Formats: sequence, C-alpha cells, structure tokens
Amino acid sequence: MTDPYIVFGAPDIREEDIAEVVASLRTGWLGTGPKVMAFEQAFARYKNVGEHHVAAVNSCTAALHVSMIAANLDPGAEVITTPLTFCATVNAIIHAGLTPVLADVDARTQCIDPAAIEAAITPRTQAIIPVHFAGHPCEMDRIMAIAQKHGLVVIEDCAHAIETEYRGRKAGTFGSFGCFSFYVTKNVTTGEGGMILARSEPHIARAKVLALHGMSRDAWRRFSDSGFKHYQVVECGFKYNMMDLQAAVGLHQLARVEQCWSRRQSIWRQYQNAFSDLEIGRPCDPDPDVRHGHHLYTVRIDSARCGIDRDAFIDRLHGLGIGTGVHYLSLAEHPYYRQRYGWQPQQWPVARSIGRETASLPLSSKLSDDETHFVIEGVRRVVDGDRRG
Ligand SMILES: *Cc1c(COP(=O)(O)O)cnc(C)c1O
Repeated sequence: MTDPYIVFGAPDIREEDIAEVVASLRTGWLGTGPKVMAFEQAFARYKNVGEHHVAAVNSCTAALHVSMIAANLDPGAEVITTPLTFCATVNAIIHAGLTPVLADVDARTQCIDPAAIEAAITPRTQAIIPVHFAGHPCEMDRIMAIAQKHGLVVIEDCAHAIETEYRGRKAGTFGSFGCFSFYVTKNVTTGEGGMILARSEPHIARAKVLALHGMSRDAWRRFSDSGFKHYQVVECGFKYNMMDLQAAVGLHQLARVEQCWSRRQSIWRQYQNAFSDLEIGRPCDPDPDVRHGHHLYTVRIDSARCGIDRDAFIDRLHGLGIGTGVHYLSLAEHPYYRQRYGWQPQQWPVARSIGRETASLPLSSKLSDDETHFVIEGVRRVVDGDRRG
C-alpha cells in the first residue's frame, strides 16, 4: 500500500496562515497585541455580536473555567452537563470549585437530553453546560426554558460548533456564555486557542481581567493621564491570554470558515450516503431548522450487527492507513470521576453504549475526493467484507 496514512483531524493550514505567522515573528510582537484584537473583532462579526462581547483566550478549557468564575456561582454549586464530552468540560467545572452532575444524552442527536437535565436539577443546581456534540446543536429552546424556570446560568460548550445554528440563531448566543475551541483538530484552529462570547459586556470585561492575572487594564486611568501606565491586580486571575502568533493563524482560518464548512459538509454527506446500506449506525440527518457544524462524522459499531467490535474496527482501519477518533467514552468510564464522585457508566446508559460503539472518521476540509473515497472503501471493506467472507 503506497497511500499515505490519513491522519484523523488534520488541520487545514494554508500558505497565508504561514506568512502571517512569519510576519508576526518579524515585527517582534509575539504576545497579545493587534492580531488578537483583530481576531476578536473578526470573530464577533462572524457571530453578529459587538466587539465588547468576545474575549480571546488560550483554550476552550480556559474559556469554560473563566466563564464559570465570571458567572459568580456559589462555591460547590452543581453544574449539569453531558457524559458524552471531552474531559475538559468537567475538569473546568471542578477547577472552578463547582460540582459536576451528569444528565444523559438523546440517542438520536447524541446531545444532552432536556428531560434528563430537568430530572437532575436539585436545590443546589446553578448552571447547565450543554455541548453541541459533533456540531449538532442541543435543543436550546427547551434548555433555555428550563434554565429560565429554575434560574440557572447557561454556558454553551461550542468546541464543535463554530458554524452551528439552531432555529436561525448561532451557537454560543443562547446562554450567558459561549465557549469556543481553536485546538488543532477543531473547525478553526490556532494550534491552541479559545474564545469566550458573553451576552453581557461586564461579563466579558471580568473574563478579560481573569484571563490575564487579574490585572485591570483600566485601573491606571484613575492614577495617571500620561507617562508610565501602572496596572493594578484586582483579583487572583490566570494566565490564559491568546498570543498574536496564534491569532495570526486564526485570522486566515476564520476568513475561510464557511469555505471549509462547505467542504466538510460535502464529505459528511458522501459518508452518509455511502453507508446507508451497511449494518452500522449513522448520525442523524440534521432537521431543517438546524445548521450542523459538521465537526465530526461518527458511526456506531455494534458488534452484534456488524460482526466486529468498535476497537477491532478502529484497528482494521488503522491497518488500512485510516486514522479515527473516539468521541467519547462516557465520562463515567474514567477512574478519576468514578472514584471522586462514585459515577458508574450504567447511570447514563445512552452515553455508555454510544461511548462503547462510536468511532469518528476523518472529516478534515483537507481531505481530497480520492482520500474520501479511500475512507469509504476502507469502512465498507472492514464492515461488509467480513460478512461476504
Ligand atoms: C476540544 C474540546 C474542549 C477543550 O478545548 P481546548 O481548546 O482544547 O481546551 C472542550 N469541550 C469539548 C467538547 C471539546 O471537544
């Protein structure tokens, strides 16, 4: 086999991204500066919000952490989220001094089930973190109604959902906060990076202070009109700022966001059509009132139906030169959370079975038509070839 290995989640980096990084290096301005500001403005425009509603940070994990602190929740308050997410969602809750509580997902959309959220609410619940899984939006009308009824803060984990819309409204603009990721494998990348979108300007102002050591950017104005600018530390913050080197990549990535989305949509649809006759579970087609972010294309490999289990499926594809991902093992499968919170996977049975059966196929906008067909043929061979002998 002479085909090169198809890496899962390959970033789509172009010459203009590279040139912008080199230009940053030549100016000597590497840290937070004009390119971060331009990236924030471009992101705000993309989301149709004012520039004082966004703050760039160095990861989505940081965005979630800072949002939860800026939301002023009581220490130890319960925060409801999904067991079918990256560990960072729950780790950020814990780092913010809060208590994670899981609510199972809907088997069709694989997003958190609003009925399960309601069932998990206690007098200690103060927030909900819905995750727009794979780029499919959560049922935000029902979630916002529940939040309103119980007085809960909503923080959207939009790590998969830059382009996602629900009933004509963009992901990240429903809750008090929306948190985005520009990690290597995400739809828009800066290598590492994140963005906070907040409905209220004071929330973003606080988030910016928290993300840079708790240093106030405008306290100095009270002391001096000219000359040396003193900063003032107004709370114990974090080192979560984005660098111009990162924003340099992000500026061009964001300019191509719709073009790359169209390419991923095309690959996603090719997979969806190509696998319709196979004994594998396919993702749900998005409803007409939903704009899918097409971050992941996930299949379910039930060994009783496919004659092969998920891990063997992944190994066989790997042998053919096709990289895959697992999004995600249910959080309750991990020893840390089991020990600390007593979680058992069977408490969230839908997430448990998805986590044990799911595999994500390559969906980078960099994939050529030949590579897309190669993945399709590989999956057909692994699933159907065995059956035919
Ligand atoms: C990637 C991811 C994160 C964390 O993003 P980072 O930018 O790597 O911190 C959080 N939540 C979900 C659902 C993710 O996929």
